[in-house]
Amino acid sequence: MTPAPDPQDMTALVADCAACAGLCCVAPGFDAGDDFAFAKPALAPCRHLGSDNLCRIHETLEDQGFSGCARFDCKGAGPYVMAHIFPRKRWRNDRQLLADISEAYRRMRAICDMIELFRVAERLPLSAAQEHARHEMLNRLLPNPAWTAEGLAHAEQAGILTDARAVLSSFRDAATRR
Ligand code: SF4
Ligand code: SF4
Repeated sequence: MTPAPDPQDMTALVADCAACAGLCCVAPGFDAGDDFAFAKPALAPCRHLGSDNLCRIHETLEDQGFSGCARFDCKGAGPYVMAHIFPRKRWRNDRQLLADISEAYRRMRAICDMIELFRVAERLPLSAAQEHARHEMLNRLLPNPAWTAEGLAHAEQAGILTDARAVLSSFRDAATRR
């Protein structure tokens, strides 16, 4: 039996489209312009998304007017959602499930952006207290047991990102010591 993935494994927080379900190609909407050749509403699969949930024009995104997709990095939010929050779930033909997965993905993207900042902060000459605060915040951002959809919604409402920004701000003196 495959062991359950470690919910606090930060090295697993990387985009891995084969371990995802095309979440960035279905959940958000986008407008036509320099980054996207055509517009797409939220909660609708891009017409270039294959039935295997992989992009059919992945090798030629720039040439086909999708530089926005070529530049995009979900920082592991998509695979995390599909591994820990909605494992083995398929969003096709289930509009409510798609809406729920998309909300979890949106929230997890913000969490993953914040985790990246806290990992970068490791390079700062932090005091012991600041390093402790960094660890504590990372444990909140990437908890064990893993996030649930409800947990993410509650944490967003309770202001986890505001708390995280406050901790980051408290590292300012360390940034100037560098
Ligand atoms: S959300 Fe991330 S892993 Fe999933 S398809 Fe998009 S880039 Fe790939
Ligand atoms: S062009 Fe490809 S990567 Fe971009 S949204 Fe469509 S399927 Fe996804």
